[in-house]
Amino acid sequence: MLDELKSEIIEYGKLLGGKNYSPGTSGNISMRFEDKILITSSGSANSFLNKDDIVLIDFDGNLVDGNKKPSSEKMLHASFYKQRADVNCIIHVHSPYLSTFACMRKALDEPVMAENVFYFGQIPLANYGLPSSDDLVEKTSIYFKDYDVVLMANHGVIAGADSMKNAYLKLELAESYAQVVFNTKLLGGAVLLNGREVEEINSLK
Ligand code: 13P
Ligand code: ZN
Repeated sequence: MLDELKSEIIEYGKLLGGKNYSPGTSGNISMRFEDKILITSSGSANSFLNKDDIVLIDFDGNLVDGNKKPSSEKMLHASFYKQRADVNCIIHVHSPYLSTFACMRKALDEPVMAENVFYFGQIPLANYGLPSSDDLVEKTSIYFKDYDVVLMANHGVIAGADSMKNAYLKLELAESYAQVVFNTKLLGGAVLLNGREVEEINSLK
């Protein structure tokens, strides 16, 4: 069972790398496994993971199985799982377009594109916290109750879902949304959806 889940993490790691969502050794991936968390080890490259790069930890971040140091963002993942029983898989990356907005300290909160209004409402921005710190966990965690995808100021993005496929798809949608918003800003600004149009989109839910 653990072996199969590790294979899934490896598969999605390659996909993230292929999309340039996870440059170098940035980012980390995890999965809920019973009352534990399977997570990539610190310093591992998501696109070149081996099974021994994935370790098992408890919800306090203690190593339960494996020989490597768990991701430095393990407590951020644990906090997401603790708050959301519906979340089983988490991806944290430094994908270029979402990270651009995170570095500008700008949430993706304008009604630019119908599909994204429908799926995300907004993608909020958590205040800056030092990577791997309790401060980062505290500042980012406040959004997990209401949002599946959260920007982390001057850092990157974190996305959670019920399955690895859905976490990946959410991230892909969010990254392409960030690219569209970026493009509209380059070309002089989008024509925003108005209040009635946003209401209409939300009524489709
Ligand atoms: P780890 O290699 O420790 O998972 O850290 C990567 C990262 O993105 C830190 O924010
Ligand atoms: Zn990071």
